[in-house]
Order: sequence, then structure tokens, then C-alpha cells
Amino acid sequence: MSVLPRPVACTDALVLRSWPCGETSAIASYLTRDHGYVKVIAKAARRPRSQLRPLVEPGRLIGVEFGLDPGRQLQYLRAGSVHLDPLGTGASLERSAFLLGALELVDRCRPRDPEGASSANDGDTDSLFAVCEEFVRMLSSPTCTAPGLAFFGLEWNLLRLHGLAPELTACAGCGTELDPQVSGGLWFSLAEGGGMCPGCGGEREPPGGARRRLSAGAWTALLTIAGGGALAPAEVPWSRALRREIGALLHGFLGYHLPGYRLPAALDLLRPRKD
Ligand SMILES: [Zn+2]
Repeated sequence: MSVLPRPVACTDALVLRSWPCGETSAIASYLTRDHGYVKVIAKAARRPRSQLRPLVEPGRLIGVEFGLDPGRQLQYLRAGSVHLDPLGTGASLERSAFLLGALELVDRCRPRDPEGASSANDGDTDSLFAVCEEFVRMLSSPTCTAPGLAFFGLEWNLLRLHGLAPELTACAGCGTELDPQVSGGLWFSLAEGGGMCPGCGGEREPPGGARRRLSAGAWTALLTIAGGGALAPAEVPWSRALRREIGALLHGFLGYHLPGYRLPAALDLLRPRKD
């Protein structure tokens, strides 16, 4: 019989998904700070008084302790505590939808091949965790009045992690500095990878170029999102129209450059109903 202590991981994690298992247990999928994507089994977590119960609620940022057995697909969840619960203080539909949408996106970023998944502790998941942590912090803050902005920040950072963040300061066509006040207005090109001056944007576009107008407000908001800052409402009112413009632009960009990207189903909740 082995007398070696079993290895245990102690790390922070974002709960991505969970589902019931057997009579009272649950399985949860985590993105962890130190061990990439990990699946755990939480024994009896669905019993009302289980101490593991708070650790399988999607969207929470938690500290966890689980067994680290490389031979197992499911690790045993042992203990933990909740650091942040973005839905803790009365969740709006908007906040829930953007949180679920984010979890869906991050879940899809997981490495495709099973070999890679088991040795996922690389720089990529490391920074992916940092990006998620920042998002959950923003969303959990009592001052977060625009969950959409936090979500767009997450999308921007996913693009940045792939080396695909759109260019905003110089024209993607000719390289001149972009100025939203210039007559003719700015353009945005999915294919060329960012903002364009009126001269380049107004030219006949190549097939599939997917150019569109970029309003001065959206340009400012995107720069703020890129800088990771909070949008000063006095500068750019975070209106429904602005949210829609930036949403369409970022989703278009992600869809164009990341094969297999699709809009998270959770965001359908926010679509205006067509009567
Ligand atoms: Zn240009």
C-alpha cells in the first residue's frame, strides 16, 4: 500500500459549467489559474448543506482544492471558498446574459485535442484566466452599470490573446492617424483588421471586405475598452444604439477571424423581440 500523500491542487478557478451526476453529486468544469481546464466531481454537492455546493455554481470565482491525479479525467473536489459571485447582489437579466455568454465563449476556447487539454498549464490558459478574472471582477463590482461593456472588454481581450486585436489608432489601409472628427467619418473593416480613414474606407472595397461605418462614439468606446478602462458616461453615453454598434462590430470581427466563432446563445436573451 502506498504511503505517499496524494497530490492536491490549491488554486483559483472560474466555474464554467456544472451538471448533476448520480443522486446527489455534481460535475463541474473549471478554468483554473494554475492547471488550465479541469473537470471535478463534487460528491454530494447537491445536498442542501453540502460545503461543496457553492463551488459548482457557474460564473463564480472561487478558491479550490482538488485531487491532482494525472490518470483521472475527473478530479475529486475537496474544499474551497467563494471569492466573487457576479450574480450575488440581485442579478439583472442583462448581467446574467452577459455572464452566461462569457462562460460559453471561454468554454469554447478550450484546447481541441485531448492531449493538449491534459497538459493545459501553459501561458495561454494562464493569461486566459487573468482575462476572465478581470471580467468577473468588473461584473461583480457594485459600480458596474454596463455589463455589456465588461463583456466587450472580454471579447477584446480574447482577440488580443490570439494576436488579433483591431487596429484603432492608425488607418488599416494607409497608416495615417485616425481622427473621428475628420469630415467623411471613419470606417471599420473586418478584413483589413481595424479602423480606416474616410479615403481608404470610401474606396471600392474588395469582395468580402466587410466594411462598415464607425461612429465617433464607438471609436472612443472601443479605445476605452482596448485600454481596459471604464467608460466615463459624460464622455460617451452608453446607449442602446452604441451597445448595438459595438456588439455587431466585435462579433463580426470575432466571426471573421476566429473560425468556428458564433455568438453565445445566452445573448439571445437580450435581443429585442420581433412582434
Ligand atoms: Zn487610410
